[in-house]
Amino acid sequence: MANGADFYAVLGVPSSASADEIKKQYRRLAKQYHPDANPNDSKAAERFKEISEAYTVIGDAEKRKQYDDMRRVGAFGGGMGGFGGARAQRPGAPGASAPPGSGPFVDFDVGGLGGLGDIFSSMFGGARGRGGRAAERGQSVERTVEVPFRVAATGGKVPVELEVTEECAGCRGSGGAPGAQMRPCGECNGRGVISFGQGSFAVNRPCPVCQARGQLPSERCVECRGSGEVRARRKVLISVPVGAESGTKVRLRGQGGKGSAGAPAGDLLITFAVLPDRFYTRDGLDLVATVPINVAQATLGSRITVRTLDGRKVALRIPPGTSSGRRFKVAGQGISKEGKVGDLLVEVAIKVPETLTEAQERAMRQFAEAGGLKF
Ligand SMILES: [Zn+2]
Ligand SMILES: [Zn+2]
Repeated sequence: MANGADFYAVLGVPSSASADEIKKQYRRLAKQYHPDANPNDSKAAERFKEISEAYTVIGDAEKRKQYDDMRRVGAFGGGMGGFGGARAQRPGAPGASAPPGSGPFVDFDVGGLGGLGDIFSSMFGGARGRGGRAAERGQSVERTVEVPFRVAATGGKVPVELEVTEECAGCRGSGGAPGAQMRPCGECNGRGVISFGQGSFAVNRPCPVCQARGQLPSERCVECRGSGEVRARRKVLISVPVGAESGTKVRLRGQGGKGSAGAPAGDLLITFAVLPDRFYTRDGLDLVATVPINVAQATLGSRITVRTLDGRKVALRIPPGTSSGRRFKVAGQGISKEGKVGDLLVEVAIKVPETLTEAQERAMRQFAEAGGLKF
């Protein structure tokens, strides 16, 4: 973006230019600075982006009208209303052939301030806009993250690789190229905010040119195009709340899609998918564990040991005459969440031997005959 974000200056046309003139000029410049015509020329690439951005706004009748409204009230330094300090010169604005104030400006009526916020928010998404590029909040991004059963039950962290927004290493967030000098922003006189109106009508807005920093670099960082932020892939640890279930969502603010023109990034919505466990299933806060027992244990009774979620061993008495599917409760060994705690339910499953020795078979027949069991 050009320092002063005067899109007319960027394209080198007067603000009174017709749509056709703007289009012609845009085509001429786009051709001249197109990356294909200027391989490995980062300055040309930058210029090409600026031209494209400018044309996106003033090449569109509706957006141009909004932009002109903003310009008229001094948001970009071209107006002539009573909003002192916003009459900035634009150092280094390329092709600046339209002097500030050359357009058909009208006095801004303070009584109309009510609509200003609307104009501003439609131009900048109501956010930290930058220099007149139509700013939009980034998109919310959704991701499904697999969580091991035990981590979901007890809470914990899972590593996830994400694209995150972080400070640009090239300029340490300043937005300036190496060796660039920081100067007070002419748009906001270094205040970082622009005031519209007077007295009780005054409305402060973050300066769209310097992104509320109050300063502008003499040359912008190429890596982040002056935004001070870059997107990078990073392994991050996502906290999984205790008792998370499949479908539980967490929101990571500002880690979604990047906003345009300095508008805030969208959120990252993470949906957990809890992986099955070899031993446990869940029923609300209760844990259910299926434990095999043999025929003798089932008929004669036994003591078995089961493991709780935290790895401790608990002895459990199986009474004589226990059938498959019977559940035994180990109180308080389920999932604890928000002051409530579930139980561990041990469900027994009788395992029958697949083959019998001769002796076993003989004994089994005797057993059946003694009890009158049909077989
Ligand atoms: Zn940078
Ligand atoms: Zn500023």
